[in-house]
Amino acid sequence: MNSYPKVTVNLNKIKHNTQILAQICNANNIDLVAVTKVFCGNHEIAKAVVEGGAKMLADSRLKNLIKLKDIDIPKIYLRLPMMCEIDEVIKYADISFNSEITIIEKLSECAVSQNKIHDIVLMVDMGDLREGLWPTDIFDTVEKTLKLSGIRIVGIGTNLGCYGGVLHTEDNLEKLCSISRSIREKFDIDFQIISGGNSGIIYLLLDSKVPKEINNIRVGGAIVHGYNMTEGKPIENMYHDVFTLEAQIIELKKKPSIPIGEIGLDAFGNKPFFENKGVRNRAIISIGKQDIYPDRIIPTDKDILIIGASSDHLILDVTDSKTEYKVGDVVSFYLKYPAILQSFTSEYVLKEFLK
Ligand SMILES: *Cc1c(COP(=O)(O)O)cnc(C)c1O
Repeated sequence: MNSYPKVTVNLNKIKHNTQILAQICNANNIDLVAVTKVFCGNHEIAKAVVEGGAKMLADSRLKNLIKLKDIDIPKIYLRLPMMCEIDEVIKYADISFNSEITIIEKLSECAVSQNKIHDIVLMVDMGDLREGLWPTDIFDTVEKTLKLSGIRIVGIGTNLGCYGGVLHTEDNLEKLCSISRSIREKFDIDFQIISGGNSGIIYLLLDSKVPKEINNIRVGGAIVHGYNMTEGKPIENMYHDVFTLEAQIIELKKKPSIPIGEIGLDAFGNKPFFENKGVRNRAIISIGKQDIYPDRIIPTDKDILIIGASSDHLILDVTDSKTEYKVGDVVSFYLKYPAILQSFTSEYVLKEFLK
């Protein structure tokens, strides 16, 4: 018996998507770092992206990197480390991203006690206002870090488009490269990594507009759904249906489209709005807001409309569908980035892997 709800991952398709992106990166002398956080560091998928040509794996959760410890490839810890996890960062990450000298000092202390050299990339805030040293403060941090044992600065990086929605541009990336040049000249150190961005950089990459010195990008989203999100365009030759979700119909009834009675706030504190379309054929499937963002999934049956959801129920209007649905039938969906992430964090959603 099949169980639902279930997300199905086509491993060949994800490998293929990685290959396409890795080819584009190679042609531009860029190392492709595959970011595994959107699928919670799943081992099978991580293996597929490595087979597809990712040069490193990266995650924002140390727990995910720990799941991947037996995959023999350099691993980056993307989120700035917490003071309480430094020992494990040294143990499970080859490289960590940093912006705080007190954390770097602690990393140094733990690296020395574990008899390791830990590599760090200094993050620079190029305007998005999430993590990163302010460009004018970076020299001071480099100077202090160079005095520490057990720590090697292997490069600099920036993250854009996440909090502030700031685009990756030739201008802000060129500024990052120029900061890197100044540091190398001032301190006479060599950088292996100038990490220019996340999936948001791909529109520049496809246009061959990424400055030459950028030699590393970190990509999750574009690999899993094959989209250049900055321009909202599919990336040529990539699959957009790597992940699909299936859930089962538990009720199917004709009901009016406007609730009966006085309308207060819904279960999530919002005042709902209804359009009167008369009596409709409505299906309830057994998945809800705790498993999936209903506005981030697209029914594969184009004639199905998602009309609402609560924690455990998703309500569909199937009136216009050419399929005669019955109770027990399975309805399937394509997933956008937040839905992939959420379906992987939900323990209620089964994961299946197609080879
Ligand atoms: C999540 C993350 C990425 C990957 O972002 P995508 O949009 O999934 O490509 C890259 N860098 C950092 C620092 C991140 O936190």
